[in-house]
Amino acid sequence: MSKPSTIAIDGTAASGKSTIGRLLAERLGYLYLDTGAMYRAVTWVALQRGLDIADEEAITALAEAVEIEVVPPTANDGRQYTVYADGEDVTWQIRRPEVDANVSPVSAYPGVRRALTAQQRRIGRRGRVVMVGRDIGTVVMPDADLKIYLDATVEERARRRYREILARGERADYGEVLAAMRRRDKFDSEREVAPLRPAKDAVIIDTTDLTVEEVLARVMELVEANCES
Ligand code: C5P
Repeated sequence: MSKPSTIAIDGTAASGKSTIGRLLAERLGYLYLDTGAMYRAVTWVALQRGLDIADEEAITALAEAVEIEVVPPTANDGRQYTVYADGEDVTWQIRRPEVDANVSPVSAYPGVRRALTAQQRRIGRRGRVVMVGRDIGTVVMPDADLKIYLDATVEERARRRYREILARGERADYGEVLAAMRRRDKFDSEREVAPLRPAKDAVIIDTTDLTVEEVLARVMELVEANCES
């Protein structure tokens, strides 16, 4: 068998999905798509327009209308990719705490998921893609050639996120970051549509005590093993 063409990476917030997904895509020369950025972009635009996040109809209409693009980085400022919403660069805005706080309810609306899942599937069908999210192996690409699920303790994940925020020169409180992460995990795992859970055929990797290089090495082993099976 040849190299897996469609690779799904799911997992909890700050489990290492984006970092590993990007590095893996780079190694393989594949497209990297972080689907979380799409849910974040819808959330940011909704907040910008002053929409009520609890207004399912308005948020769904927005998700159907707004054009979101995730493309290779257009600036050398530490970004992993550039995100456009209706042509506006929102790459850094979508990382703000108010987006963290509102993205889970937005992404729990079935109509929002329908709109974004359709776009993600279109991209997945072209192959040679590493797609990262919460429901890639279960819903978006259930036939993916390789499925990986990353996890780590919530304390370790909160530490990673806390350090990321400080590295951007912003202020943060570890306790608040931890509490927000617990809330988001709970919301994402308990929602009715496409809840966060590993696909039955996903390989689960606990990244708590592993370095990025170690996780990547393990994932590359899985890619190679997939070629031989
Ligand atoms: O991965 P990231 O933390 O950027 O994702 C932000 C949020 O987007 C998640 O907490 C989740 O609510 C939502 N999401 C989702 N399905 C995906 C990717 C992200 O529901 N495939």
